[in-house]
Amino acid sequence: MFQPNNKSEVPGLVYLFAHNCSIQLLTSPSVKTAHRRAQVLWTTACPLVRRYNEAMGRTILHLDLDAFFCSVEELHRPELRGKAFAVGGRPDQRGVVASCSYAARRRGVRSAMPMARALRLCPDLIIVTGGYGRYGEISDQVMEELQRVSGLVEQISIDEAFLDISDAPQPPIQIARGLQATIREKLGLPCSIGIASNMLVAKIATEVGKSGARGDSPPCALTMVPQGSEAEFLSPLPAGMLWGVGPKTEARLAELGIQTIGDIARWPEADLVRRLGEWGRDLARRARGEDERPVQTEHEVKSMSQETTFARDVTDDKVLEHTLRDLAAQVGRSLRHSALAGKTVKLKLRWPDFTTLTRQTTLPGMTEDDAEIYATALRLLQQVRKPRQAVRLIGVGVSGLSEPIRQLGLWDQNSERGRRLQAALDELREKYGKDIIQHPRGS
Ligand SMILES: [Mg+2]
Repeated sequence: MFQPNNKSEVPGLVYLFAHNCSIQLLTSPSVKTAHRRAQVLWTTACPLVRRYNEAMGRTILHLDLDAFFCSVEELHRPELRGKAFAVGGRPDQRGVVASCSYAARRRGVRSAMPMARALRLCPDLIIVTGGYGRYGEISDQVMEELQRVSGLVEQISIDEAFLDISDAPQPPIQIARGLQATIREKLGLPCSIGIASNMLVAKIATEVGKSGARGDSPPCALTMVPQGSEAEFLSPLPAGMLWGVGPKTEARLAELGIQTIGDIARWPEADLVRRLGEWGRDLARRARGEDERPVQTEHEVKSMSQETTFARDVTDDKVLEHTLRDLAAQVGRSLRHSALAGKTVKLKLRWPDFTTLTRQTTLPGMTEDDAEIYATALRLLQQVRKPRQAVRLIGVGVSGLSEPIRQLGLWDQNSERGRRLQAALDELREKYGKDIIQHPRGS
């Protein structure tokens, strides 16, 4: 049985939640040995995990810097290392703890706690007034490192981000270890990582890994939940660990005898909807480990998309492909109209039961080309849709927009010719309506 509060205290520990088994815990008195043993186990488990991710969909990495403000302070004041200290406001000015060292955490100090209370728990607590400007700069440097790994980075706070690494050729654990090493070596900062098939589970994986920290040093945890094990992984965790379950909801759920995420997943969904409204449905989905939100890059606001809801659910491949081609052409046209091109192509699908999912991929270069948008979206559709599976809504979008860079060289003549042809077609469509030129069906 997996118990998140009963873990070893080895920093750099790797937790591997392998499919159809309980948590495998690697403990060792030495970090080096732990890493070596993790590597051996990982090599054995990796092909299995990769097969899952390749067959089923996305790989999302969540990264959280360990006690970020404190770690930055330690860089400038090494004498703080290993000591109980907190960054935050002064206790006589009703200050709160913004971040606290792991030594302080061991004494019960937590972030967001009034500093006066933290001092009562830990009378020798050293209070450090934060250098907030410096934190922002270092956070930017961390995000730059993440950008080198994937074009799909969503920063959610000063010290946390999601990366969509579905397209990366290396195994996720290798990417994660590489990031931890780079951020440690270049910037001197420790971080923890969670990997899963979606954002919800990846973030909780990080939290579970971090909760294993026991000593005075940061956890540097790495936790991976393979595709298909999400519900099993979440099941024993307290309900309050789910996004959107605050103390109020937690209390309401406790009245029903619901303590864990698994209790929510087992509860009849209709009853949750009756008690909590539509939100009950979201809650049930999250408890099952389902989360289809895409990682949204900073440029995401700058995106162009088109979607169609069918009057009747569609199972015919040809109809879907034709619709997709049409939508891709509309998106391409609006891009060219605004003199923009995008890096990321996104496919949106809604099944008859209203579950909605998105898949996206980042192209090697920028595009505003109908055919390339269509081909990319079609590939995503083929990856995600089972044969004859009915579709209620289909959509295509392009994001990561900026002005296209056009360098006309010897090798670009064909694409330049293609671009001119496209411009001429756009002009015709504008004059005579969008149906003036049709792609032959099935081509
Ligand atoms: Mg953090």
